[in-house]
Formats: sequence, C-alpha cells, structure tokens
Amino acid sequence: MWGRPLVPVISVTAVAAFLWPVAGAAVALGAWAMMLLALVYHHLRNLSQLYEWLEAVSARSLPDGSGSWEEIFSGLSRLLRRQTQIESRLSATLGRFQRAGAALPEGVIFLDEHDRIEWCNPRAEALYGLDSERDRQQQITNLIRNPQFVDYLQQGSFNEPLTLRVSRADTEVVLSIQLVPYGRSDKLLLTRDITHWDRLETTRRDFVANVSHELRTPLTVVGGFLETLTDMREPDPEATHRFIGLMSEQTTRMNRLVEDLLTLSRLESTQNPVREEFVDVPELLADLRREAIALSGGRHRIEVQADSREGLDGSIEELRSAFGNLVSNAVRYTPDGGPIDIGWVVREGIPVFFVRDNGIGIEPQHLPRLTERFYRVDRSRSRSTGGTGLGLAIVKHVLSRHQAHLEIQSEPGKGSTFSAVFPPARLHRTELPVRETAPQEADR
Ligand code: ADP
Repeated sequence: MWGRPLVPVISVTAVAAFLWPVAGAAVALGAWAMMLLALVYHHLRNLSQLYEWLEAVSARSLPDGSGSWEEIFSGLSRLLRRQTQIESRLSATLGRFQRAGAALPEGVIFLDEHDRIEWCNPRAEALYGLDSERDRQQQITNLIRNPQFVDYLQQGSFNEPLTLRVSRADTEVVLSIQLVPYGRSDKLLLTRDITHWDRLETTRRDFVANVSHELRTPLTVVGGFLETLTDMREPDPEATHRFIGLMSEQTTRMNRLVEDLLTLSRLESTQNPVREEFVDVPELLADLRREAIALSGGRHRIEVQADSREGLDGSIEELRSAFGNLVSNAVRYTPDGGPIDIGWVVREGIPVFFVRDNGIGIEPQHLPRLTERFYRVDRSRSRSTGGTGLGLAIVKHVLSRHQAHLEIQSEPGKGSTFSAVFPPARLHRTELPVRETAPQEADR
C-alpha cells in the first residue's frame, strides 16, 4: 500500500543523492527541498479538487487527477458507477413493490415503531380518508380516532383481526383490520372492506331465523292437535276428523314452504344455467288462466289479453313458475268479483308479460322491498291464502336469470299491475300459428 505514494519521494531523494557528489551538498539539498515542495503542491492541488468534488458528488464533475491521483479518481469513478447501478436496481425494486402495494385491493399502511405512518396505498387513503404525502410521519391514532381501533393497536396481541363498523354518509361500512408486526418493531396495518360479506352473513342469519319461524307455527299447531288427540279419554270421531283436517292444512303449508325454498335454492345455484328452449307464451297464458280459474274457484273474472303471438326463448318451467306466482298473487289479493287480466304484449320490440288486478293494492313504501324473501305487506292475508312470502323472490330470480326485470305499479284500494319486462333478444320472432279459438273462449 505504501509503495505507490512513496515512489515519487524515493525518486526525488535518489535524484538529490545523485546531485550531492556532482554539485555539492547545498545544491543537492536545495533541489531536494524544491522537488519535495513541488510534490506537496501536486498533492494539495489534487486534494483540493477532491474536496471540491465531494461538495457536489456527480460522475460528470469527477476530476481526472494527475500522477497517482489519476488512479484514485478513476477508482472513485468505478465505485460511483457501481453505486449508481445498485441504486437504480434498488429503486426499480422499490417502485415495483410500491406499485404492487398500490394495486392491492386491501388497504395497506406501514407504521414505524411509534405507530407513525410511513407509507399507505390508495385503498387505505380511500378507506380512512388519508393522504400518503400529507399524513406521512403522523401518529395513526391521531387520524383514526375510533376507540376500538385505538384499543386494538395498544393491546399488543394481533392474532385476531378487528371488525370495525364505520358510519359513512348514509351507509355503514364494515372493515376487517389486521395488524402484522414485522422486522424489529415495524408494523403493517391491513384493512379489508367486508361490508358485502357482512351483509350476506346478516341475510343468511335472517333467512335461517325466518325459515325457522315459518316452520315453527305449523309445527306448533300440529303438535298441539296431536297432544289433544293423545290426551282424549273417550274417542271423539268428529273432533278427530276436524283435527286431522287442520293438521293436514298445516302440513300442506310446510310442504309449500319447502318446495318454494328448494325452487329458490335451485334458481340461486350457479351450476344450474337457464335452459334455453322455445316458450310458447300465448299457450302458457291459456294454461295460467285455467290454473287461476281453479284457484279462484269462480270468484274472479279472469281474462287473457295476448296482443302478440310471438314466444320467448328461456326456461318453460321457470317462466311458468314465475308467471304462475304473479297470477296466484292477483287471485289471492283481489276481492271476490274483481277482474284479473293476464297479458302479453310486445311494445317497440320489448316483450312484456303482465298481470293486472283491481285488488287491495300496495302502499308505495312497500314496493322496493316486495321481492325480499318473506316480506309481506298483509301478513294475515298472505298466510290465510296459503302464501309462503317467497313468491315474488322466486319471480325476481327467474326474471334476472332471463335478463328481465319486474316493474310494479300499484295503488292502495285500486289494484296492481306486475310486469315482467324482457330484453328484445329474448323474443322468439317466429310467428306462432293463429289459434282457431281465443284462449279465454276455449275455457268458458
Ligand atoms: P306471499 O306468499 O305472501 O304472497 P309474495 O312474495 O308472493 O308472498 O308477495 C309478497 C307480498 O306482496 C305479499 O305478502 C303481499 O302483501 C304483496 N302482494 C303481492 N302481490 C300482490 C297483489 N297482486 N296485490 C296486492 N299485494 C300483493
């Protein structure tokens, strides 16, 4: 190591030593001192260039240097190049990680040992109203002040996530928050919006509670009669006959409920695609009318209004069930003598099936909830007429499987019109052969 810097000193000394016998001691020492001074000047000049360069390090301003400094500067230049390469590789990797973090569907916040924000992704910004630039180095508990969140952060055990309900404008958002400690004392705060899952879970819970409730009533009735029959000391054929009749009514009710539940579950199954077949709607209308007459027992005037002779592409079984539910509702919610129209029209290419009644009608506030499972406006009327509360839920499912939707117009005391509006693509354009007799005439 010492070799290189010493070479010029040794050379200078050798020259002086050579001069000594030739030119005398004074000249040799003078020349030696001059050469050493020149050497010191050379080093000082290069050293000052080095200091100057260190003030603002850049590859371009690196001096060339002279003598042994030339090598030092070129070594520095190599070092600088390698450093720049490592830096750009690191920043590319960091950029990739940041982009991945930003693209994550979950909120990600990096916290330091004092729970100060180091970085957060756009999802976390949106979930908590943060700004990754503005809020950097801010204490997270100053920005998210929810007491449950503050407790969670302070309790120190993070095996279980925290479920937080946050009110936003007019909705409630449910967040699942998990703190993941890493490194020596850094933390990663992950947040998932589970509002959708929470709603599904609530719906599932409500559904189970509703089904249990619906089944409990008939079961209690059947149980009660069975108990009475068991406790009878003397056989009473007349009472027994009556009880059996009432029990059979309740079992029919349970059966209907189970059937509707199975229909709904079949409709909801993703493994059960819609069967695409030709549905002869005018013929279906005639069948529906016959069924309605049977259900009504002649208490209503039921007419078919088929303005179109075209059919639909879809599942016969599902459409029959959906249309049948609408017709049966019209019969059940229309007082005796009322007219009921079962219609099929194509308006500007849009196929519409409708059922119009002049029955009890529905208050406007109930309309948005009518297709919810077990939602009933008139509970006692629904039950007394054998309703399960699932009819319109089935209709909604069937229609959505056919890309159709349900429109309801209703006025309390005046009646209702339930229309199934299909997309034009579902219309089966082939004209059906004209029937000899109109459907209503055929049934009269
Ligand atoms: P339900 O088995 O109780 O009839 P639905 O899902 O078929 O169940 O209907 C939901 C509710 O909508 C009914 O309970 C009833 O209150 C109301 N409803 C349905 N159709 C009619 C109608 N045509 N007229 C008046 N109310 C109706």
